[in-house]
Amino acid sequence: MAPLRIEPVGCLADNYAYLVSGDAVCAVVDPSEPGPVETALKGRQLTHILNTHHHWDHTGGNGALKQTHGAVVVGPQKDRDRIPGIDVGVEGGRGWSFGAHPVRILEVPAHTRGAIAFVFPNAVFTGDTLFAMGCGRLFEGTPAMMHASLAKLMTLPDDTQVYCGHEYTLNNARFALTLEPGNKDLQARMRAVAAARAKGEPTVPSSIGLEKRTNPFLRTSSAEIRAALNLETADAVEVFAEIRRRKDAF
Ligand SMILES: [Zn+2]
Repeated sequence: MAPLRIEPVGCLADNYAYLVSGDAVCAVVDPSEPGPVETALKGRQLTHILNTHHHWDHTGGNGALKQTHGAVVVGPQKDRDRIPGIDVGVEGGRGWSFGAHPVRILEVPAHTRGAIAFVFPNAVFTGDTLFAMGCGRLFEGTPAMMHASLAKLMTLPDDTQVYCGHEYTLNNARFALTLEPGNKDLQARMRAVAAARAKGEPTVPSSIGLEKRTNPFLRTSSAEIRAALNLETADAVEVFAEIRRRKDAF
Protein backbone atom coordinates (compact mmCIF):
# COMPACT_ATOMS: atom_id res chain seq x y z
CA MET A 1 0.00 0.00 0.00
CA ALA A 2 1.48 3.33 -1.07
CA PRO A 3 1.83 5.91 1.72
CA LEU A 4 -0.67 8.75 1.70
CA ARG A 5 0.33 12.03 0.11
CA ILE A 6 -0.70 15.23 1.91
CA GLU A 7 -0.77 18.65 0.21
CA PRO A 8 -1.74 21.93 1.93
CA VAL A 9 -4.20 24.11 -0.01
CA GLY A 10 -4.34 27.76 1.02
CA CYS A 11 -7.94 29.04 1.20
CA LEU A 12 -9.50 32.40 2.12
CA ALA A 13 -7.03 34.71 3.93
CA ASP A 14 -5.24 32.23 6.19
CA ASN A 15 -7.12 28.89 6.14
CA TYR A 16 -5.61 25.56 5.17
CA ALA A 17 -7.52 22.78 3.48
CA TYR A 18 -5.53 19.61 2.76
CA LEU A 19 -5.63 17.05 -0.01
CA VAL A 20 -4.93 13.53 1.24
CA SER A 21 -4.46 11.02 -1.56
CA GLY A 22 -3.61 7.34 -1.83
CA ASP A 23 -4.52 4.33 -3.96
CA ALA A 24 -8.00 5.03 -5.38
CA VAL A 25 -8.87 7.60 -2.68
CA CYS A 26 -8.53 11.37 -2.51
CA ALA A 27 -9.92 13.45 0.35
CA VAL A 28 -10.03 17.12 1.14
CA VAL A 29 -9.90 18.14 4.79
CA ASP A 30 -11.80 21.30 5.83
CA PRO A 31 -12.56 22.94 2.46
CA SER A 32 -13.65 26.51 3.20
CA GLU A 33 -14.19 27.22 -0.51
CA PRO A 34 -14.19 25.03 -3.63
CA GLY A 35 -12.02 27.13 -5.99
CA PRO A 36 -8.51 26.58 -4.57
CA VAL A 37 -9.33 22.91 -3.92
CA GLU A 38 -10.34 22.34 -7.56
CA THR A 39 -7.14 24.08 -8.70
CA ALA A 40 -5.01 21.86 -6.45
CA LEU A 41 -6.85 18.71 -7.60
CA LYS A 42 -5.68 19.24 -11.21
CA GLY A 43 -8.51 17.12 -12.55
CA ARG A 44 -8.37 14.38 -9.89
CA GLN A 45 -11.65 13.11 -8.47
CA LEU A 46 -12.44 13.67 -4.78
CA THR A 47 -13.78 10.60 -2.97
CA HIS A 48 -14.15 12.14 0.50
CA ILE A 49 -14.65 15.48 2.25
CA LEU A 50 -13.51 15.46 5.90
CA ASN A 51 -14.58 18.15 8.37
CA THR A 52 -12.94 18.65 11.78
CA HIS A 53 -15.71 20.99 12.98
CA HIS A 54 -18.75 22.89 11.81
CA HIS A 55 -17.39 26.43 11.28
CA TRP A 56 -18.15 27.83 7.83
CA ASP A 57 -14.46 28.43 7.07
CA HIS A 58 -13.95 24.64 7.33
CA THR A 59 -17.15 23.45 5.63
CA GLY A 60 -18.07 26.22 3.14
CA GLY A 61 -16.85 24.15 0.19
CA ASN A 62 -18.77 20.98 1.13
CA GLY A 63 -21.85 21.65 -0.99
CA ALA A 64 -20.17 22.54 -4.28
CA LEU A 65 -17.44 19.87 -3.98
CA LYS A 66 -19.93 17.15 -3.06
CA GLN A 67 -22.10 18.09 -6.02
CA THR A 68 -19.18 18.11 -8.48
CA HIS A 69 -17.41 14.98 -7.26
CA GLY A 70 -20.09 12.92 -5.51
CA ALA A 71 -17.70 12.76 -2.55
CA VAL A 72 -18.74 11.29 0.79
CA VAL A 73 -18.84 13.91 3.57
CA VAL A 74 -17.40 12.70 6.88
CA GLY A 75 -17.66 14.77 10.05
CA PRO A 76 -18.38 14.72 13.76
CA GLN A 77 -21.47 12.70 14.67
CA LYS A 78 -22.05 15.03 17.65
CA ASP A 79 -22.45 17.98 15.25
CA ARG A 80 -24.32 16.18 12.46
CA ASP A 81 -26.92 18.93 12.24
CA ARG A 82 -24.25 21.60 11.71
CA ILE A 83 -22.11 19.86 9.02
CA PRO A 84 -23.44 20.69 5.52
CA GLY A 85 -24.12 17.57 3.43
CA ILE A 86 -22.82 15.10 6.04
CA ASP A 87 -23.09 11.40 5.04
CA VAL A 88 -20.98 9.67 7.70
CA GLY A 89 -20.85 10.79 11.35
CA VAL A 90 -17.76 9.63 13.23
CA GLU A 91 -16.86 9.67 16.90
CA GLY A 92 -14.06 8.70 19.26
CA GLY A 93 -13.54 5.02 19.96
CA ARG A 94 -15.01 3.94 16.65
CA GLY A 95 -12.60 3.49 13.76
CA TRP A 96 -13.18 4.70 10.25
CA SER A 97 -11.35 3.62 7.11
CA PHE A 98 -10.09 5.82 4.30
CA GLY A 99 -9.76 3.25 1.51
CA ALA A 100 -7.41 0.67 3.05
CA HIS A 101 -6.03 3.17 5.59
CA PRO A 102 -7.32 2.92 9.16
CA VAL A 103 -8.16 6.32 10.64
CA ARG A 104 -8.68 6.97 14.33
CA ILE A 105 -10.99 9.74 15.53
CA LEU A 106 -10.18 11.78 18.63
CA GLU A 107 -12.95 13.88 20.12
CA VAL A 108 -11.39 17.21 21.06
CA PRO A 109 -14.21 19.53 22.18
CA ALA A 110 -13.80 23.18 23.33
CA HIS A 111 -13.30 25.30 20.18
CA THR A 112 -16.65 23.74 19.22
CA ARG A 113 -18.60 21.08 21.11
CA GLY A 114 -18.25 18.49 18.35
CA ALA A 115 -14.64 19.13 17.26
CA ILE A 116 -12.70 16.03 16.18
CA ALA A 117 -9.18 15.24 14.99
CA PHE A 118 -8.50 12.71 12.22
CA VAL A 119 -5.50 10.53 13.11
CA PHE A 120 -3.88 8.93 10.05
CA PRO A 121 -0.73 6.83 10.24
CA ASN A 122 1.92 9.42 11.23
CA ALA A 123 -0.33 12.48 10.61
CA VAL A 124 -3.08 14.24 12.50
CA PHE A 125 -5.52 16.88 11.25
CA THR A 126 -6.30 19.09 14.21
CA GLY A 127 -8.62 21.73 12.70
CA ASP A 128 -8.84 24.71 15.07
CA THR A 129 -7.99 22.75 18.24
CA LEU A 130 -4.18 22.60 18.06
CA PHE A 131 -2.27 25.19 16.00
CA ALA A 132 1.46 25.57 15.53
CA MET A 133 2.39 27.17 18.90
CA GLY A 134 -1.26 27.91 19.62
CA CYS A 135 -4.72 26.53 20.23
CA GLY A 136 -8.23 27.49 19.15
CA ARG A 137 -10.46 29.97 20.91
CA LEU A 138 -12.95 28.57 23.39
CA PHE A 139 -16.18 29.30 21.55
CA GLU A 140 -18.17 26.35 22.90
CA GLY A 141 -16.11 25.00 25.77
CA THR A 142 -14.17 25.71 28.93
CA PRO A 143 -10.43 25.94 29.64
CA ALA A 144 -10.64 22.51 31.33
CA MET A 145 -12.19 21.02 28.18
CA MET A 146 -9.51 22.43 25.89
CA HIS A 147 -6.75 21.39 28.28
CA ALA A 148 -8.11 17.82 28.21
CA SER A 149 -8.51 17.87 24.42
CA LEU A 150 -4.91 19.00 23.92
CA ALA A 151 -3.75 16.32 26.38
CA LYS A 152 -5.43 13.69 24.17
CA LEU A 153 -3.50 14.95 21.15
CA MET A 154 -0.26 14.84 23.17
CA THR A 155 -0.65 11.06 23.58
CA LEU A 156 0.23 10.69 19.87
CA PRO A 157 3.85 9.78 19.05
CA ASP A 158 6.23 12.77 18.96
CA ASP A 159 7.00 12.29 15.25
CA THR A 160 3.30 12.56 14.27
CA GLN A 161 2.95 15.35 11.70
CA VAL A 162 0.45 18.04 12.75
CA TYR A 163 -1.73 19.66 10.07
CA CYS A 164 -3.76 22.54 11.52
CA GLY A 165 -6.54 24.72 10.15
CA HIS A 166 -4.89 28.15 9.88
CA GLU A 167 -1.59 29.87 9.16
CA TYR A 168 -1.41 31.70 12.51
CA THR A 169 2.11 30.54 13.28
CA LEU A 170 4.11 33.77 13.21
CA ASN A 171 1.73 35.61 15.51
CA ASN A 172 1.53 32.58 17.78
CA ALA A 173 5.33 32.52 18.01
CA ARG A 174 5.43 36.22 18.94
CA PHE A 175 2.93 35.58 21.73
CA ALA A 176 4.78 32.48 22.96
CA LEU A 177 8.00 34.49 23.25
CA THR A 178 6.30 37.01 25.58
CA LEU A 179 5.81 34.17 28.09
CA GLU A 180 8.94 32.11 27.55
CA PRO A 181 11.70 34.25 26.02
CA GLY A 182 14.39 31.93 27.43
CA ASN A 183 13.13 28.82 25.59
CA LYS A 184 15.91 28.00 23.11
CA ASP A 185 13.68 25.70 21.02
CA LEU A 186 11.14 28.51 20.76
CA GLN A 187 13.79 31.04 19.73
CA ALA A 188 15.03 28.71 16.99
CA ARG A 189 11.51 28.00 15.80
CA MET A 190 10.71 31.73 15.63
CA ARG A 191 13.69 32.21 13.31
CA ALA A 192 12.64 29.30 11.10
CA VAL A 193 9.01 30.44 10.95
CA ALA A 194 9.92 34.06 10.18
CA ALA A 195 12.20 32.90 7.34
CA ALA A 196 9.50 30.62 5.89
CA ARG A 197 6.82 33.32 6.01
CA ALA A 198 9.18 35.90 4.46
CA LYS A 199 9.37 33.53 1.46
CA GLY A 200 5.60 32.99 1.50
CA GLU A 201 6.01 29.32 2.48
CA PRO A 202 3.57 27.47 4.74
CA THR A 203 4.71 26.60 8.27
CA VAL A 204 2.73 23.34 8.28
CA PRO A 205 3.17 20.56 9.12
CA SER A 206 4.48 20.77 12.64
CA SER A 207 5.00 17.71 14.84
CA ILE A 208 3.71 16.66 18.23
CA GLY A 209 7.26 16.69 19.62
CA LEU A 210 7.95 20.21 18.36
CA GLU A 211 4.66 21.46 19.80
CA LYS A 212 5.50 19.97 23.20
CA ARG A 213 8.77 21.95 23.21
CA THR A 214 7.43 25.28 21.93
CA ASN A 215 3.63 25.63 22.32
CA PRO A 216 2.82 27.60 25.51
CA PHE A 217 -0.64 26.00 25.76
CA LEU A 218 1.08 22.62 26.20
CA ARG A 219 3.70 23.96 28.58
CA THR A 220 1.69 24.77 31.69
CA SER A 221 4.40 23.13 33.80
CA SER A 222 7.15 25.46 32.48
CA ALA A 223 8.70 27.36 35.40
CA GLU A 224 9.45 30.32 33.13
CA ILE A 225 5.82 30.57 31.95
CA ARG A 226 4.47 30.17 35.48
CA ALA A 227 6.78 32.92 36.74
CA ALA A 228 5.73 35.23 33.87
CA LEU A 229 2.09 34.74 34.89
CA ASN A 230 2.69 34.90 38.68
CA LEU A 231 1.08 31.46 38.90
CA GLU A 232 3.95 29.42 40.35
CA THR A 233 1.70 27.18 42.47
CA ALA A 234 -1.52 27.16 40.41
CA ASP A 235 -2.88 23.98 38.86
CA ALA A 236 -2.38 23.26 35.17
CA VAL A 237 -5.90 24.28 34.09
CA GLU A 238 -5.58 27.67 35.85
CA VAL A 239 -2.28 28.29 34.06
CA PHE A 240 -3.82 27.21 30.76
CA ALA A 241 -6.83 29.52 31.29
CA GLU A 242 -4.58 32.51 31.98
CA ILE A 243 -2.48 31.82 28.85
CA ARG A 244 -5.71 31.63 26.80
CA ARG A 245 -7.00 34.93 28.34
CA ARG A 246 -3.74 36.68 27.50
CA LYS A 247 -3.71 35.32 23.96
CA ASP A 248 -7.30 36.51 23.42
CA ALA A 249 -6.10 40.03 24.27
CA PHE A 250 -2.75 39.82 22.41
ZN1 LIG B 1 -13.13 27.10 13.81
